[in-house]
Amino acid sequence: MPLYEFYCAQCKTKFEELCAASRETLSCPECAAESKRVLSTFRAGRGAAGGGASSGGCSGCSGKNCGSC
Ligand SMILES: [Zn+2]
Repeated sequence: MPLYEFYCAQCKTKFEELCAASRETLSCPECAAESKRVLSTFRAGRGAAGGGASSGGCSGCSGKNCGSC
């Protein structure tokens, strides 16, 4: 099951959740506000740093190990 990361703008809480299906929002465990899914912070940025060889992550798209870009 993929691990998704969510961020609650209301209480500034970031949490991870295992979701069977891709979800855009999830209730915050702290305040129950609707939290938006965010891309993994490890991949965030403009892709200028690193070199793309780290853990097979893809900086060209939102996927991990996409192998197509
Ligand atoms: Zn919250």
